[in-house]
Amino acid sequence: MTRDRSAAVLKLLRPSVQALPLYDPGADPEQVAQHCAGQPLLKLSNNENPLGVAPAALAVLRDYRPELLGLYPDPACLALRHALGERLDTHPSQLIIGNGSENLLELLCLAFLDPGDRVVTQSPCFGLHEIFPLMMAAQVTKVAPHPDFSCNLGAWRSALAGPSKMLLISNPSNPLGTIFDQQALAQLIGAAASDTLLVIDEAYYEYACADPDFPEVLGLLRAQHRPWIVLRTFSKAYGLAGLRVGYGIASDASLVAALDRVRTPYNINQLAQQAALAALGDPQHVARSRAFAAQVRAPMIEALGAAGFRVAPSRTHFLFIDTGVDAQEVNRRLLAQAMIIKAWREPGYETCIRMTLAQPDDNARVLAGLQQAVQALR
Ligand SMILES: *Cc1c(COP(=O)(O)O)cnc(C)c1O
Repeated sequence: MTRDRSAAVLKLLRPSVQALPLYDPGADPEQVAQHCAGQPLLKLSNNENPLGVAPAALAVLRDYRPELLGLYPDPACLALRHALGERLDTHPSQLIIGNGSENLLELLCLAFLDPGDRVVTQSPCFGLHEIFPLMMAAQVTKVAPHPDFSCNLGAWRSALAGPSKMLLISNPSNPLGTIFDQQALAQLIGAAASDTLLVIDEAYYEYACADPDFPEVLGLLRAQHRPWIVLRTFSKAYGLAGLRVGYGIASDASLVAALDRVRTPYNINQLAQQAALAALGDPQHVARSRAFAAQVRAPMIEALGAAGFRVAPSRTHFLFIDTGVDAQEVNRRLLAQAMIIKAWREPGYETCIRMTLAQPDDNARVLAGLQQAVQALR
């Protein structure tokens, strides 16, 4: 009976969905905690903010009047869009709010991609940059960096030489943590055909934006006579991953209107709208988060390098580390010690892991775990 039903489901399913790779959220912390009773759990698999929620958002959540939950939220997120508009010197009609920036990636693919359309993105890549285009039966071309993780402009030029519907990159890169600097980004944009939609996912913008070589993406894009959108989020530096709020800054109101056609009207719940608005008014939390990342990052990169690991030069609060051995095996060994990292599954990167940076003691614990695992596996 069950088997008949599942066969029927498969028969009904769109072939492109049947073939879709699964998103890997990492190991379940509750299960890991159960198996490792007594060992303090380290969840470093999802790039959450080690400093937690912005205090201003916490205050709003504590004072929230729950009877308001009987009402639908504002479908236009006007208060949040106006506040963001002021912050970004952008008209609110050019801003769209998503249930996480993931939601905006999904809307972009739903609205713009037909079967067979080409999407050019980078490798290693954020899972959803590949999964959502494939969901629409689009073709995904991925461009790899040089072995030292720097931008391979020649490879980008040839990938962008043919027609493509969308150029989709993360800057800083997830999972590498590296950046395309102003010059590289300008060259990349210049290499894309004028009818290619530019999607720049800046989920980690707040970590890199103070670096002098990090591009002024809005200035760069506003000089372009073509559609583009920049995605940012409250999940990372603002610490609101559990509430699901991201936003897009679009070239013009028509792009926002196009996405509104495929958006569920009430996609951002009330609590999330209010907490995000409060978090936006708490720049100190972002500054603390950036400073914390900068402080713990350099010593950990150095310690990993000294231990023989190849590490991408991150500008963020996470690291991409080549262990030189099977990353799934490394992952299993770290899980047994209550450390959750993300083993990379993408072809060509099966020896790599990504970890969120934590307190120095915790980073040292991961390093020791990695060294033990590699010794046992080599
Ligand atoms: C974390 C992340 C997102 C998702 O952010 P949400 O706003 O939580 O959906 C999007 N893009 C990249 C590159 C990310 O790393």
